[in-house]
Amino acid sequence: MRFDIITIFPDIFRSVFSGGVINKALEKGFVEVKVHNLRDFALDKHKQVDDRPFGGGQGMVLKPEPIFAAVKKIKREEETPIYLLSPQGRKFDFRLAEKLAQLPQIILICGRYEGVDERVIQYLATDEISIGDYILTGGEPAAVVIVDAVSRFVPKVVGKRESVEQDTFFEDLFDFPQYTRPRDFRGLKVPEVLSSGDHKKIEFWRRKKSLEKTWLLRPDLLNNRELSLEDKKILEELKTEKKGMNNELDRFS
Ligand code: SAM
Repeated sequence: MRFDIITIFPDIFRSVFSGGVINKALEKGFVEVKVHNLRDFALDKHKQVDDRPFGGGQGMVLKPEPIFAAVKKIKREEETPIYLLSPQGRKFDFRLAEKLAQLPQIILICGRYEGVDERVIQYLATDEISIGDYILTGGEPAAVVIVDAVSRFVPKVVGKRESVEQDTFFEDLFDFPQYTRPRDFRGLKVPEVLSSGDHKKIEFWRRKKSLEKTWLLRPDLLNNRELSLEDKKILEELKTEKKGMNNELDRFS
């Protein structure tokens, strides 16, 4: 899996992938990240990549020619998707990350200033991707988020597949609570079941906590999935335990 990032600030990426899981994945060649300086594709001797907007108004706009030239050089296959990072784009989420991880190459274009010339959106980009309903000063942080989240789905990047499968959202469920030493921190004790050595009990406790957290904090996620009889029973139990709480559990009974 190869990520090609087009940016006017390539230095931003210098240290961001230099530690942790992504760094290991890069070193071992499970993923590849190539950062391209848009200025290298500028046509004039001043390396100009932006200009004032036609019609007047605030700020600068990234010019189309260097972006088209960069993509032409970088794109390996006809089908390689080209994503423009944009607050107006399709919302990036867990599902999209999983889907993108199946591809051999994706190109990410980082906008800046007032954005990019509309012809890039209309005639070059496969799609626009947003990482949330807020405005960043540039697409670079969004590119980092995408590289990180997509890489987790690339085989071997996360050592154990189970870690990915337990993660929040994988099954439209939140991850269960985790504890480590000390067993007693300022009188706050780790739930006893976790030290019981009874794997069945631990598994049941974890499932129940996952369902409980999801139900309390993101009940909409439970609508996306078929609940097993066991899960329905657990939710019924929770309903009895938390009687009187204002939530949407009734729909699952
Ligand atoms: N004027 C633009 C608008 O209102 O849609 C915003 C431009 S923003 C200051 C500069 C660049 O940051 C954008 O071109 C885009 O590449 C990036 N950006 C900003 N917010 C983003 C978001 N939520 N998701 C992805 N990229 C974003």
